[in-house]
Amino acid sequence: MRLLELLIGKRFPFPFVYNDEYWMVDLGRSVVDVRKYRLIYERLLAMGVRKENFLESPLADDEDILRAHTFKYIEKLKAGILTRAEIQALELPFSSELTRFALLHVGGTILACERALDCGLAFHLGGGFHHAFADHGEGFCAINDVSVAVEKLRADGLIRRAMIIDCDVHQGNGTAAMFAGREDVFTFSIHQMDIYPAEKPPSRLDVGLWMGDGDEAYLSAMRTHFPTLYESFRPDLVVYLAGADPLTGDKLGGLSLTLDGLAERDRIVIEGARRQKIPLAVVLAGGYGREIMDTVQVHLNTIKVAQKAGSPRLR
Ligand SMILES: [Zn+2]
Repeated sequence: MRLLELLIGKRFPFPFVYNDEYWMVDLGRSVVDVRKYRLIYERLLAMGVRKENFLESPLADDEDILRAHTFKYIEKLKAGILTRAEIQALELPFSSELTRFALLHVGGTILACERALDCGLAFHLGGGFHHAFADHGEGFCAINDVSVAVEKLRADGLIRRAMIIDCDVHQGNGTAAMFAGREDVFTFSIHQMDIYPAEKPPSRLDVGLWMGDGDEAYLSAMRTHFPTLYESFRPDLVVYLAGADPLTGDKLGGLSLTLDGLAERDRIVIEGARRQKIPLAVVLAGGYGREIMDTVQVHLNTIKVAQKAGSPRLR
């Protein structure tokens, strides 16, 4: 039995970060379907991941949130006194429950980044709220978990340079704006041009694609930049937003990538970082598949690619 447990544990030589509260928040009739978090968790258990492999996301501290956000915005968010326009920009029903949801995802991404430094790779079954700016939230994103995590790890002296690879179909506008002009944080975004956000503040490197471009254009662009970018920037940590919304049929995206194309995207990012022994934290970001299981499958495939690539420090 011990040998069996050891073997099963070895199949996932990296931790997952998750909190069962993720899927309990009530977002009304939003296109955001929080059941995906629970479904991925359940599938991983069914695949043999032990409960000990899951770490529970804690609530993020104010001190850490304020490393990336303005005091004024966070004060209003926590007091529940956002203006009607601010709530409209979020495109979600606002509640204290939503604020708690956002704080847990930030805590989860911080934990995944810290564990990535220890284990080589860590997976947050949440996070990727890249449309949140320092002073406001928008596009389903109240707090920018990845930006907060990068700032916290830098402040704690755990890393000096970070690379954020944003492969959600929507441009990472909040993250790009937060790190504009920064030498120590490289922001990369590959996205669809003709959809939200209308205004796209420049990332360090943006790749803009168009409706229907599909696997070939997408993967050719990824191969142009990876692994070269790892070699030239040499980050201490990579945070990968493995969005599921470039998938064909997504309700909010039109890039029309196939499941195989998305898995190849994951291999380019994950295996590239692994080969260079750069710690990697993966967060889920968006995904609005025609069927929820389409979205879940994309995320599970990313996990399988990571499983195959193994942990850089453990191999
Ligand atoms: Zn998205």
